Amino acid sequence: MKIIIGNIKMNIVSQIERENYFKGMENCLAGKNFKNIKVVLCPPLIHLESFKNRIKNEAVFFGAQNIHEEEMGRFTGEISAPMVKNFGGDYAIIGHSERRKYFSEDNGLVNEKVKMALKNNLIPVICIGETEEERANGQIKSVITNQLLESLDGIADKKISQLIITYEPVWAIGSGRVPTSDEIMEIRILMQKILTDKFNLSLDEMPQIIYGGSVEFKNIKEVCLESGMSGVLVGGESLHPMDFIKMGEVLENN
Ligand code: PEP
Repeated sequence: MKIIIGNIKMNIVSQIERENYFKGMENCLAGKNFKNIKVVLCPPLIHLESFKNRIKNEAVFFGAQNIHEEEMGRFTGEISAPMVKNFGGDYAIIGHSERRKYFSEDNGLVNEKVKMALKNNLIPVICIGETEEERANGQIKSVITNQLLESLDGIADKKISQLIITYEPVWAIGSGRVPTSDEIMEIRILMQKILTDKFNLSLDEMPQIIYGGSVEFKNIKEVCLESGMSGVLVGGESLHPMDFIKMGEVLENN
């Protein structure tokens, strides 16, 4: 089962825009009965409940773009994992590079959030990836290894299969540039090796490993299928229901 996750980021600013988005999704999903994919939409949380109520399709699920690391308490402006769960979410993106860059999230905090998501039955979608500079300095493997190991520290072997790990190179986000399918495949193999070395996993307990960063209809075969990934995390293109669902169809049919 492949997965396509839409990170809508800080978009859909009005009721009119939201209504147009719902109409677009309704048209694109009409009569669709996906068997081989899950579609996950992660809108700004103000929209979560209405997304859940308005977009009805058995293959479509919802999630948050972030959660707080604590379950409850005095944390003005924050959203907890139980809130996401109770208002219709099943997934939580954690450690997105924009959170790391603009909100100083490090691997330790990502690790706390992953544990909090799991505790509340949310599937963590953990983002891992190198910057342009780290790539230029030949540090891709060490960066990926550190981010992955530190993000998963202390997580029980039996929980690992519930995670989704996203290889999302920071330089690829919103840039229109993507790694080659061979480069993505190499990272997938590296991640699988790190996971089997660290955790006691059988092959069918391997978490899904997906790709994110400038995924479009024209490159989805290369970045996802040819590289052997289990799905994609999509930013910009998730704002366009027709393009987004067309990408889902490629995964459904291949
Ligand atoms: C993202 O930010 O998670 C992302 C994948 O963005 P984009 O597809 O726009 O590169």
